[in-house]
Amino acid sequence: MEPHSPLTATHLEPEKAPKVRDVSLCPCKSRLAYGLCCAPYHYGKALPQTAEQLMRSRYSAYFFGRIDYLVDTTHPDRKTPETRAGIQAFADQARWKFLTIVGSSKGQAGDKTGKVEFIAQYYQDGVLREHHENSRFRRSRGLWKYVDGKG
Ligand SMILES: [Zn+2]
Repeated sequence: MEPHSPLTATHLEPEKAPKVRDVSLCPCKSRLAYGLCCAPYHYGKALPQTAEQLMRSRYSAYFFGRIDYLVDTTHPDRKTPETRAGIQAFADQARWKFLTIVGSSKGQAGDKTGKVEFIAQYYQDGVLREHHENSRFRRSRGLWKYVDGKG
């Protein structure tokens, strides 16, 4: 993180993160208010019903540095002792700028698996970069979880 950067506001401390009712636009670029989009998932008020909703909420969680949420929504089969540190490192290296959902397959209310392809743009060391990923999601105890992704 770079404290002098005007974009540091994207990395809010948890206590400064917007409340569920926040009307500012959600960082996942849904054009919905954060309080009507990803916040209810982040605050445990609702559960993502589709793989894409989980994917968006995980992007927003990276945006706000909500590491607990990212760990919680990683599929238990894929969690290792290094999972949290890996997420933290990835969250810290980037200042997230934009999310584009390229496409998705399955991942709906009646599915057990789903895939979401997305492009996340972020600044790293002042350079705009893209993270292009095909993510796989699978339900665990009925809840959507992130399995893995290929770049
Ligand atoms: Zn959102």
